[in-house]
Amino acid sequence: MSHSTKYIFVTGGVISSLGKGISAAAIGALLELRGLSVNFVKLDPYINVDPGTMNPLQHGEVYVTEDGAETDMDLGHYERFTHAQTRQANNCTAGRIYHNVITKERHGDYLGGTVQVIPHITDEIQSFFVKGTQNCDIAIIEVGGTVGDIESLPFLEAIRQFKAKHSRDDVINIHVTLVPYIKTADEMKTKPSQHSVAALREIGIQPDILLCRGERDLPNDIRKKLALFCNVREDCIFGAKDMPSIYMMPTYFHEQGLDERITELLKIWSREPDTTQWEHICDIIKNPKNEVDIALVGKYVKLKESYKSLIEALNHGGYANDARVKLHYIDSEELESLSDDELADTLKPMNGILVPGGFGVRGTEGKIRAIQFAREHKIPLFGICLGMQMALVEYARHVCGWNDANSSEFVPDSLHPVIHLLDAQKNIENKGGTMRLGAYLCKLSDNTHVREIYGKREISERHRHRYEVNNDLRPALEAAGITFSGTSADGSLVEIFELNDHPWFICTQFHPEYQSKPTAAHPLFASFIAAAIHQK
Ligand code: GLN
Repeated sequence: MSHSTKYIFVTGGVISSLGKGISAAAIGALLELRGLSVNFVKLDPYINVDPGTMNPLQHGEVYVTEDGAETDMDLGHYERFTHAQTRQANNCTAGRIYHNVITKERHGDYLGGTVQVIPHITDEIQSFFVKGTQNCDIAIIEVGGTVGDIESLPFLEAIRQFKAKHSRDDVINIHVTLVPYIKTADEMKTKPSQHSVAALREIGIQPDILLCRGERDLPNDIRKKLALFCNVREDCIFGAKDMPSIYMMPTYFHEQGLDERITELLKIWSREPDTTQWEHICDIIKNPKNEVDIALVGKYVKLKESYKSLIEALNHGGYANDARVKLHYIDSEELESLSDDELADTLKPMNGILVPGGFGVRGTEGKIRAIQFAREHKIPLFGICLGMQMALVEYARHVCGWNDANSSEFVPDSLHPVIHLLDAQKNIENKGGTMRLGAYLCKLSDNTHVREIYGKREISERHRHRYEVNNDLRPALEAAGITFSGTSADGSLVEIFELNDHPWFICTQFHPEYQSKPTAAHPLFASFIAAAIHQK
């Protein structure tokens, strides 16, 4: 381990979705404000090597890091709340652990030995605690799943071993648990937490801090009871009440003294944090000057987590404009069967329309209809990745008159494949981890809308796609009014296009949402929301 790093392990009990990821991120934010550097590791107990091939409806969005890793969406929370730069090594699934161990076994690294969960798997897990968090003061390591799951056992065992090897002041365990309020009894119940802590202790881990999720603040008698039964100091038990916004968590935890207690347990000297920027965001959330209606037209709208970074980036764009973003989730497939009047009824009240990324043909014609409506009715339109590709198809069909225009992802033999595969992608057989992934430089053309919005000539944005704009058709599209305002450094790949005769029509092949923060909204999202407010 790097000599000065201290470790905070975050586990969850009773049920999933208690906000472990947000809690870890909010703790990171507070520790950063105390002048400490932080980084994170997310451990996921499933067997997929990474979430890249999973349907977002199963597991929420895939978060793409700078170095092109397809990771769990909690890494998005970590990056939004802090300045941590996460990479491949900051997300580790059971699949990756086993993959690494089996690769070593085939290579002969364990010749003569029997390869076992303990110590080989648990050693490999421990190597990830250190790999992703070198050179930072505090490593925050979150274990996915719930204590008691069969799958998370090796991870918890690895934590136990790791803790046993280190000094008490270097490693602490935070357990996020549920303290439900039972209406008929008018009481908050500690039993589920008692059981969950008991399960953790059975494995050999004694939590140092409890974060108690519930509808209400934690009353003192409940805190006392939890302390007694869970063997945790009373002043180490904190409330984690449901909040109107995740961005209220840092100040909420700070007011209870959580960050101070953590630094005391880890015996680190640090300054008092200045939480002004979070308070400012809380003020806007509670009392915004403006409100805008934004439509998100996608096919994964049934699980909002599928668009996590996007939704957050829209919120950030709102904060930059002192506005609340009212999001309307519209299933693109449902738009396909609407009459023109019904379509207008649905989309006319919107101040802006965002068409996000996606895979597969389902719902694409609905996206094209929404884009056409936005273009013709001058409603601000933001197209991202597949949304951008469909916007180009829409323009090709309805302005250039190429009725059969499409992406070759959906119609392989269209005469006008405005979006297609480059040769390099044509020969790829493995679907996992082989898209164009991660950060690439993009050059912005002078005198364009994006050049003005970014205020610079060169930007770096993250990608996750296989298909590209067809260069053969670029001249004809340009002649028909499209401005290709951003390209790869050598000009060979289209990164952005925009329309001039429209108040705000910007489409990007990359995913700008991955780099937006509540305290620093991404310029495109801030500008899109400003245009939407202007539209009202
Ligand atoms: N399916 C498209 C491609 O692979 C778009 C991907 C996306 O929207 N992330 O190019």
